[in-house]
Amino acid sequence: MHVDGVGKSFGGTQVLQSVTLAAKAGEFVSLLGPSGCGKTTLLRIVAGFERPDAGHVRVDGQDLTDTPAERRNMGMVFQAYSLFPNLTAAQNIRFGLRLRKLPKSRQQAIVADLLSLIGLEAHADRYPHQLSGGQQQRVALARALAIQPSLLLLDEPLSALDAKVRVQLREEIRRIQRETGVTTLFVTHDQEEALSISDRVAVMHGGRLVQFDTPAAIYRDPADAFVAGFIGTAT
Ligand code: ATP
Repeated sequence: MHVDGVGKSFGGTQVLQSVTLAAKAGEFVSLLGPSGCGKTTLLRIVAGFERPDAGHVRVDGQDLTDTPAERRNMGMVFQAYSLFPNLTAAQNIRFGLRLRKLPKSRQQAIVADLLSLIGLEAHADRYPHQLSGGQQQRVALARALAIQPSLLLLDEPLSALDAKVRVQLREEIRRIQRETGVTTLFVTHDQEEALSISDRVAVMHGGRLVQFDTPAAIYRDPADAFVAGFIGTAT
């Protein structure tokens, strides 16, 4: 996935300035920065929900900048409460397959595999309100993976959960990401979260990308005082 020179303004305010970033196939990349730095806007541009004023989005060598969101083959998980309340866990996951013309038996097999991947086989017929927040987010993840997306986009998927579940689920997300090999962009404002699970972290500040490197390199050699302060290595 390549983001090249992406810029975006809302009503005269520039919220992204010339952001260039590339994730390798199978890589887990976090977009990290304080509230308002433009992380979600960048993710929405990659997803196709917003159009950039400048720059390009490419996936697997294909320029998707003008491709509508529904034709980008991306899976997305939001902060919380994004499951359909009137559908069971299995039905929510199957919904991810609605645009695929697959025989019913094939759909059922995919849903069963995903329920097993997220460890919720026994909860297939439960409705969202009968699941914990962490379980709901696992179902949302399975729904996003159902289409075998070329890119998995996670927008603060852990932020509504309590601290203990947050740590468990982030490890689980990483395990599932490794097992499926799906290239992932993960938005968070939590530096500990980003640095603990990512292959590389893109630190954003005021609409710009200020550093893009491995967690170890960012710890060792923060690009500027903002990065040092934000990740807590400033002395
Ligand atoms: P947060 O973690 O709080 O969601 P963020 O880093 O994800 O922050 P964005 O949501 O991308 O930041 O927002 C960046 C800036 O763009 C903010 O100042 C926000 O108010 C503004 N913004 C985002 N979307 C719109 C919109 N549709 N119209 C106008 N301004 C917007």
